[in-house]
Amino acid sequence: MPIYESYANDTNHSYVPIRSRLFAYMYPKSIQKLINLFSKFPTVGPRTATRFVFYLIKLSPEEIKELSFSIDALKDSIKICPSCFDTFDPSTGSGQVCDICSDNGRNKELLCVIEKESDLTTIEKTKTYKGFYFVLGGTISLKKKNDKNLRIEELKQKIEKGDFKEVIIALSPTTEGEATMLLVKRSLASYNISITRLGRGLPVGGELEYADPDTLESALNSRS
Ligand SMILES: [Zn+2]
Repeated sequence: MPIYESYANDTNHSYVPIRSRLFAYMYPKSIQKLINLFSKFPTVGPRTATRFVFYLIKLSPEEIKELSFSIDALKDSIKICPSCFDTFDPSTGSGQVCDICSDNGRNKELLCVIEKESDLTTIEKTKTYKGFYFVLGGTISLKKKNDKNLRIEELKQKIEKGDFKEVIIALSPTTEGEATMLLVKRSLASYNISITRLGRGLPVGGELEYADPDTLESALNSRS
């Protein structure tokens, strides 16, 4: 069997676009392995992954060591908060939950549902919101029709345990975000709480993380 055929039939490499398959098999194994790993990162395709690997090749041995040490240490030094599912450093604060969840000065009646951890930082930067958060863990993928990775049940449990009066669904106004907002709204319909979403100003189709703080602040204040 010609080599390109065996490569094309290898399902492990099925994400490589057809036109680049002939080129991809020429990389040495160690390079190809890293390309495969980087390709699994969010928003990174095989082309960007390849650029990452060649960037790494140019780094000094010390820089490579620092990078691999930081990756190694990540799992040991970071925990997932069992209350909001944000990541936190357990060596600070209570060590059990994140700084926000253990902050008694926050508004216990407000819960903001976000897609991912970085959205929390984006909203905190506005200094407008003083309630609590819940990281949903993604949005509905319209292609895969898969919502089982979303923490809907965990969200319900948090609402049942808390004294929340309002849940703000702060998801990006993209097609996936809109579909997820509907799902969250429907899932929480039986609770006696008001469910709001971010208001005007956010560009339709845009990701929350790219919204500037002023626009996000106005969207938070005009939620409905
Ligand atoms: Zn937390």
